[in-house]
Amino acid sequence: MSEATIFDKIISKEIPATIIYEDDEVLAFNDINPQAPIHFLVIPKIQIRTANDITVEQAQLVGKLYVAAANIAKQMGFAESGYRCVMNCNNDGGQTVYHIHLHVLAGKAMGWPPYQDTLKSKG
Ligand code: AMP
Repeated sequence: MSEATIFDKIISKEIPATIIYEDDEVLAFNDINPQAPIHFLVIPKIQIRTANDITVEQAQLVGKLYVAAANIAKQMGFAESGYRCVMNCNNDGGQTVYHIHLHVLAGKAMGWPPYQDTLKSKG
């Protein structure tokens, strides 16, 4: 495994998190710095560093992140009103923790595009 991240310590319960769902393969917990009234992260228990590193063999596991997100949304009662799922990749995507995670944001109507600079090209 490459360098451990803070999410490995959340998986192993070395550091606390507000866990809202867990099974053998997937963990979901509240984001420590919420960007919406509801903001949690859904992660695989195995380390995959970025979206670029997802293999075909891991496709079902990554699909389970979305299934977990939708099941939690139904249980928490915001599936019908809606929510946003985001997976940031690398520096320009805003990724800061190198263990893939699905951000699930809900509880308010969100605009699109998410940032004004979305339409600007680099350089
Ligand atoms: P990203 O910038 O897409 O890599 O997202 C990383 C997310 O992890 C951010 O939204 C952080 O607020 C969140 N985060 C970092 N450390 C923790 C932690 N100990 N518990 C919960 N969320 C965390």
